[in-house]
Amino acid sequence: MSEPVQVTPSQATPKTTKAQRLVGVKGMNDILPPDSARWEWLETQVRALMARYAYRNVRLPIVEPTALFVRGLGEVTDIVEKEMYSFEDRLNGEQLTLRPEGTAGLVRAVVEHNLLYEGGKRLYYMGPMFRHERPQRGRYRQFHQIGAEVLGFGGPEVDAELILLANDLWKELGLKDVRLELNSLGQPAERQAHRAALIAHLEQHSDVLDEEAKRRLHSNPLRILDTKNPAMQSVVESAPRLLDFLGEASLAHFTAVKAILDANGVAYSINPRLVRGMDYYNLTVFEFITTSLGAQGTICGGGRYDYLVEQIGGKPSPAVGWALGVERVLELIKEQGEALPELAPDVYAIIPETAALPVAMQVLQALRAQGVTAQMHAGSGEGMGSMKSQFKKADASGARFALVFGAEELAQGRVAVKSLRDGAGAQRTESLATAADWAHSLQSSL
Ligand code: ATP
Ligand code: MG
Repeated sequence: MSEPVQVTPSQATPKTTKAQRLVGVKGMNDILPPDSARWEWLETQVRALMARYAYRNVRLPIVEPTALFVRGLGEVTDIVEKEMYSFEDRLNGEQLTLRPEGTAGLVRAVVEHNLLYEGGKRLYYMGPMFRHERPQRGRYRQFHQIGAEVLGFGGPEVDAELILLANDLWKELGLKDVRLELNSLGQPAERQAHRAALIAHLEQHSDVLDEEAKRRLHSNPLRILDTKNPAMQSVVESAPRLLDFLGEASLAHFTAVKAILDANGVAYSINPRLVRGMDYYNLTVFEFITTSLGAQGTICGGGRYDYLVEQIGGKPSPAVGWALGVERVLELIKEQGEALPELAPDVYAIIPETAALPVAMQVLQALRAQGVTAQMHAGSGEGMGSMKSQFKKADASGARFALVFGAEELAQGRVAVKSLRDGAGAQRTESLATAADWAHSLQSSL
């Protein structure tokens, strides 16, 4: 047990010195109104679409044992080598990591709760991920992913279903300028044969390999194909293609995925160098890419990972999935000039005197119960403020109507309803007792 921290009275109540302002962690963003409305809107679209495909939601811990990611993603990967927020829990010595991605944790949960006991599962998740990368546009240290994963089915039809699902999402969100790249990584034995050819090719060009590539040449040469180093692009482009090493079964799987996409009018291009950032993939891998976001153009990536369940200690089971980067998708929506969802309330309540508060708030409750969005003017603690300043706030809120709870109207059991937008200034009064009846006249969507 650690000693309790001693707080001296002067520390507890700093009266004379101004407290030093603390700022958030670099690369970890606050998501605030009005932007947060876009996030909520996106999440709503995703939930509805997942339901239509019969995918079920899972909510998993943000912290997992470090060993899960080291074993699951592979030791020689960017994430495990240099991007993880790993720490020791001071209180019990456990080695823990803030999740850098969602698949390993999901597979851990599926195995731990024996979810595949009665057959395959279609699942999805949303939430924050953490990677210690250099913050820049589209690349943050805390970012958010939405992921879809299907476990327990080995056929190409679920690979295709997942791609159709993502493709539908882009349509639903109105995204233009998104293209699909596909590749097949084959099976471990096929990769083994390709590996020898790849190493030989890379060794011939060892003069252009960077330090990282030299280090990975014998531990994980395939990973070198994923390099972002411009100086290495030509040697990577001329490398032996894994696709040429695939056997009949792998090719048949790939062909079947493509046939379903063709039949459904989903355009794609084959990128033989697409390998993805984690070691757990086999057979189909894919990325959705846009040219509208600069260097950080991949909005979604995924593929099949038939050996991960076993690697994490479960009974062998095939699986396939994808994850999209929420920030990048939202940035693309913004880039395309999509308007923000409407945030303005239907009504703003103007309350000249504090004495009117109880009855005003009763009326607002009755309106809200009918689905009216209502914002109440709140005072400073010393009265409600002038009518002029209250009307200013009402205008700034964007509300369609002001409800004015003036003493004169209240005495007659009524409230004034003043139009602030269409036909601004038009005014009528309504009965305090029957708010449920006139509520609908305040709503734009009815
Ligand atoms: P990149 O090549 O851009 O580093 P990645 O291959 O590391 O991406 P994945 O692990 O496949 O990314 O994650 C899926 C998606 O999550 C990416 O396509 C991207 O949209 C998003 N993503 C990944 N890392 C970040 C990050 N640091 N900040 C914001 N979004 C990210
Ligand atoms: Mg990355």
